[in-house]
Amino acid sequence: MLHENLSVNERGHLCIAGRDTVELAEKYGTPLMVMDESRVRRNMRIYNNAMKKYFGEKSFPLFASKSFSCKYIYRIAKEEKMGIDLVSSGELYTALQEDFDVSRAFLHGNNKTDFDINYAMDSGVGYFVVDNLTELDRIDSVACEKGITQKIILRLTPGIDPHTHAAIVTGRVDSKFGIAIETGQADYAVEYTLKKKNVRLCGFHCHIGSQIFDIKTFCDAAEIMIKYISHVKSKFGYGVEVLNLGGGFGVKYIESQPELDYEEFIRLISQFIHNEVERSGIAMPTVVMEPGRSIVADSTLTLYTVGGTKEIPGFKNYVSVDGGMPDNPRYALYQSDYTVCLASNMNKKADFECTVAGRCCESGDLLQENVIIPKPERGDILSVLVTGAYNYSMASNYNRIPRPCVVGIADGKDFTVIRRETFEDLIKNDV
Ligand SMILES: *Cc1c(COP(=O)(O)O)cnc(C)c1O
Repeated sequence: MLHENLSVNERGHLCIAGRDTVELAEKYGTPLMVMDESRVRRNMRIYNNAMKKYFGEKSFPLFASKSFSCKYIYRIAKEEKMGIDLVSSGELYTALQEDFDVSRAFLHGNNKTDFDINYAMDSGVGYFVVDNLTELDRIDSVACEKGITQKIILRLTPGIDPHTHAAIVTGRVDSKFGIAIETGQADYAVEYTLKKKNVRLCGFHCHIGSQIFDIKTFCDAAEIMIKYISHVKSKFGYGVEVLNLGGGFGVKYIESQPELDYEEFIRLISQFIHNEVERSGIAMPTVVMEPGRSIVADSTLTLYTVGGTKEIPGFKNYVSVDGGMPDNPRYALYQSDYTVCLASNMNKKADFECTVAGRCCESGDLLQENVIIPKPERGDILSVLVTGAYNYSMASNYNRIPRPCVVGIADGKDFTVIRRETFEDLIKNDV
């Protein structure tokens, strides 16, 4: 199967972490997301161990929690001694409910509101990742009012195009994120920041995009960042402590994609960085990375109940399910690849080419087009694999569809992680 936590049992049912998905669908209803906790922990440990091994004890990974944010995941991240990357006060609030030590948190975002700045400082967030100088001014003045010095790092755009989907490219000069090195604006920002009294410049950040399989892209970005650190050292006499290289490691969603060996990836990047650092004669910074997708994506699958099929002779076939863009908007947003399988009848011959459609009143509400699966019947359970990242966290109530239930599996036991929304939940803010 696509990942080692998936299997098929003697009843021909799809299993995750050894549990029968059809039984889980019966117990909890559909749409249902099932998360294999041991896979999340495994992924976190790979990053944690590899970063300490190859970059030294001070180095650590941050879980990019926008990929899946809820109390449960912060609990696991805390137990696994991960740092976290936050992009909003809502994520911060959620992490604080689990007493997450936010001195190991980095606060992102290209528009931190006054509320965000105050709340994050009052909560003791370790680092602000500063996106622009307007924001820097405000962070400095709020820190001044509070009588503190806030640690910050500057988000820079190294001018790299990682050849992934345009909507998930973030490191180009014309990005909405960060300050460009190429235009000289980064130099200005460094000089400007160093003069500020209530912020302390600790280093630089870059994040070039997501779903990247090519290590060269990371090395290209790292090379530019290290050259820049060296340039800043000679121009301003300032030595960088932290180099945050962002996230973006690719995940295998479909058979034709590779399964990356993240430890090997980190080893190679570390080798490259050590060479570059040595060559440019700067001190080795503490390297931080921010994996999101590669921590949670392959831990989870989504189960749907098939409503029916429709064959349009000479055109195409449709399979309709009881979820769709409200629980997974990624196909509608980015035409993301997914593997679809008939969880309730895995041994049946796959000979039905179809488009899997969600239940919303929106023709773009598709989960995948042109997949070949066994022809399902009404009531069959259909699964979309590798849905742990940017699915629940992007979920909406479009068409007043309640968000699904998320179930965790650990040590063979199932438990609710996020309850299914109710109709009362849907109207709780309606006045
Ligand atoms: C989204 C994001 C990440 C995580 O990216 P993944 O592709 O999920 O690993 C990390 N850092 C920043 C700044 C991001 O915006």
